[in-house]
Amino acid sequence: MSTFEQLTQYGHAHQIPILMDESMEWLEKILLEYRPSTFLEIGTAIGRTSIEAARILPDLQVMTIERDPEMAAQARKNIEASEQKDRITFIEGDARYVDLSGQTFDLIFIDAAKSQYRRFFEKYSPLLSENGLIITDNMFFHGLVEHPERTHNRHTKGLIRRLRAYWEFLETNEEFETTILNIGDGLALTRRKHA
Ligand code: SAH
Ligand code: MG
Repeated sequence: MSTFEQLTQYGHAHQIPILMDESMEWLEKILLEYRPSTFLEIGTAIGRTSIEAARILPDLQVMTIERDPEMAAQARKNIEASEQKDRITFIEGDARYVDLSGQTFDLIFIDAAKSQYRRFFEKYSPLLSENGLIITDNMFFHGLVEHPERTHNRHTKGLIRRLRAYWEFLETNEEFETTILNIGDGLALTRRKHA
């Protein structure tokens, strides 16, 4: 079994919110078409997407951030065991406070706490290269963004509000333009507006 298949099985068995199949297929297509040199992932989980991205593009440099100590331990172990380990920099820490200033990324993948999406965007979008892409996962939040009445949980309602605010923030952004894609749990594809 390939590393990718192993991590996929492990993710499903342990209820880890790994990227949905359809979204992963789309991301692989984007990687092959767009051929970024540098990739930043916010929210590593067990390292599945980072390792796969580095596998698909043999020159890609990956940086990925995870704050949960148990996930981080898994990610570190999986990355270390992968053939791609020399091109993947793993950072254990809260992405709100990690300092990557001075670095640039061709592709930034936001896939961590939904309540903090805007904050991640504002912090990391200045590091995006001129023609770079920002991809955000879980824009639909399992249909709850469209149908907030389906939950009565206060915490979930709060998350829906934050996600809607992020959606609005992207749609009204002066510097960036965004397309929301009906793939998996909803992906936002953002790039700089060019005059
Ligand atoms: N990108 C992964 C899935 C990530 S799941 C994949 O494609 O397989 C979301 C992860 O984000 C969780 O492991 C969670 O612990 C992490 N996370 C949430 N908020 C974070 C933050 N502020 N900084 C770093 N990681 C965070
Ligand atoms: Mg996700």
